[in-house]
Amino acid sequence: MKMIKGFDVAVIGSGIIGLFAAYWARQKGLHVIVFDQHHPPHRYGSSHGLNRAIEYIYQEPSQQYLPWIQRTWELWRSMHQTFAPLDLLAVTGAVTILVETDPRIAQLQTWAENLDVPFKILGPASLRSRFSQLSISRHVIGIEEPSAAMIAVEPFIRSMIAWGQEHNIPWHFNEKVLAVKAHPDHVTIKTADTDYTAARAIVTPGPWLSQWGLNIPITLSRQLMLWVPKSSLPLSSMVNIDLLEDIRIAFFPEPQERWGTKIIADVPLTAGEKTCSAISVEDILTVNDQIRPIWSGIDRAPLIHHEPCIMSMTPDQNFYIDYWPGSKHIVIGAGFSGRGFKYAPLVGQWLVNMVMQEPIEDDLSLFRINRIDNLS
Ligand SMILES: Cc1cc2nc3c(=O)[nH]c(=O)nc-3n(C[C@H](O)[C@H](O)[C@H](O)COP(=O)(O)OP(=O)(O)OC[C@H]3O[C@@H](n4cnc5c(N)ncnc54)[C@H](O)[C@@H]3O)c2cc1C
Repeated sequence: MKMIKGFDVAVIGSGIIGLFAAYWARQKGLHVIVFDQHHPPHRYGSSHGLNRAIEYIYQEPSQQYLPWIQRTWELWRSMHQTFAPLDLLAVTGAVTILVETDPRIAQLQTWAENLDVPFKILGPASLRSRFSQLSISRHVIGIEEPSAAMIAVEPFIRSMIAWGQEHNIPWHFNEKVLAVKAHPDHVTIKTADTDYTAARAIVTPGPWLSQWGLNIPITLSRQLMLWVPKSSLPLSSMVNIDLLEDIRIAFFPEPQERWGTKIIADVPLTAGEKTCSAISVEDILTVNDQIRPIWSGIDRAPLIHHEPCIMSMTPDQNFYIDYWPGSKHIVIGAGFSGRGFKYAPLVGQWLVNMVMQEPIEDDLSLFRINRIDNLS
């Protein structure tokens, strides 16, 4: 068994959350080592699939997120400048379409007003003229947020890895961590043939949280992403349709003329890593059945590409950001409940500050793991 020592922080799991943790730790001048069982960006976890939405107007589980959404936007804008050649953020705007009686409409309006973000309410007629290809019922309302943006996921992950290489972060990809152990003054990280030691560790395992034996409740929800030619479904803004009848579909335009229009829909999860990453014909038929009532063109459009993606949902949709049970030298970040990309820059900062025992002004009690014991 080899033994490698001398790191300030080990990051285990190199999805978007772990990458930001590594980035901020290195920015502080810390010696960082990063592990991933695969080579990011990969299609087995949650941080892949061309793009992600960042919106101000979104159903958050608590008002506590109000200042955090503003801060995370600022951080994304600064990343947009740092990684300028990437064109990281594409401002397309987003329209969320809900049933007219849905109480979330009022909540989203209040949220937007509190944030002082411009928005427009669209009735069925304007929605129909705006999205003539979609079947818009008479009983829906749209909330338009012109400032919403799409993040270029995979090019950004590649750029962060290149940045890490330039800044001497050893990336240990395709190296699975089998165990992490806290000692009074250091942490050991065990892989198949090497024991590493670091002063501290940040564990960001995404959907693999349950493999750590911590007994933290998490539900995995598999989403299927499909791409059709832009000519089949030309859109200029993102559209989220959430009709309270299990119809939850998101449409993403593709401004860079790559891959076409993206459609995301829920598919029931079959257990196990292999089945999560594979897509069956039944999955595609199930998704087509969901999309058809909203966009009948799905039956005629050629399928350019498809990928699964896993969401890790907590029981209350608040994240898990906490110390490892029994140790202040290890922190864990998981359960990002469909909003991990948006908050990743901020979460990465929190994780680093926590593990370095540096003060954090925000009240993060919402994210403590033991809050779940109090949920009935
Ligand atoms: C279809 C879809 C659409 C989404 N849309 C949005 C959106 O529009 N906006 C938004 O903000 N969020 C969105 N999300 C959610 C967001 O993508 C996730 O919250 C985020 O990517 C989670 O990142 P993560 O780093 O926690 O997990 P992951 O990206 O899964 O990373 C975890 C990493 O840990 C590694 N790992 C696990 N165990 C080990 C081990 N033992 N040893 C070594 N490595 C290990 C894995 O290989 C993996 O690379 C969406 C998610 C999906 C599935």
